[in-house]
Amino acid sequence: MTPEMAPQIEKGQIVEIDGYKIEVLLTEPEIDKRIVELADQIDSDYLGKKLKVIMILKGASSFGEDLIRELGKGNSAIDRKPRDIEIDYKGTTSYGSKTTTSGEVKDTISMDSSIKDEDVLVVEDILDTGKTLLHVVNKMSEEEPKSLNVCVLLDKKERRIVNINAKYVGFDIQNVFVVGRGLDYKQKFRNLRFVGILLNPDKEEKIN
Ligand code: 5GP
Ligand code: MG
Repeated sequence: MTPEMAPQIEKGQIVEIDGYKIEVLLTEPEIDKRIVELADQIDSDYLGKKLKVIMILKGASSFGEDLIRELGKGNSAIDRKPRDIEIDYKGTTSYGSKTTTSGEVKDTISMDSSIKDEDVLVVEDILDTGKTLLHVVNKMSEEEPKSLNVCVLLDKKERRIVNINAKYVGFDIQNVFVVGRGLDYKQKFRNLRFVGILLNPDKEEKIN
């Protein structure tokens, strides 16, 4: 089958993978378009500046790579020059394998470069209660970056319990548990190019 013939995955469609039912919330083209818009905005805000992009693993690696690919492309005709960007990674975990946060944030991987006096953009997959990002931002602030802003693909604003907001937000979503574009359930579904609501996280319990 040629790529042109591949069936389009539509919004609202229910996709079944390994017995899990996932309802498509955001389609691949919709997400790709929004990432270009975010990159344009970041390019114009950081015009002429070197940018240090820190991706929070594992969830942000997919979105983060898509985002930095668009930075400096000159989509907005504001900044047509390739950008001076450095990347680093930081690992945190809070969820375990459940669909509700444990609230306890653990560092799993630390950055191997300094952010002192750098313009830092922290990239995360999703802002939920905000505990993960608050933990990350507080720790990074101790290293005295020149500036520190946050970019997330998804924001569940109604779930917030600590005071943190992202300057750049791809999509505001309701209080639903989503997978795809880096977001997992028990380490599955990070590879999906769409974002979908996991309808039956307890499928195994029902079968047994
Ligand atoms: P917070 O600390 O803001 O409550 O949670 C942030 C982290 O929880 C995210 O980095 C992500 O790993 C996880 N998380 C929050 N909501 C969702 C969701 O709807 N789906 C998935 N797969 N992970 C989520
Ligand atoms: Mg995460």
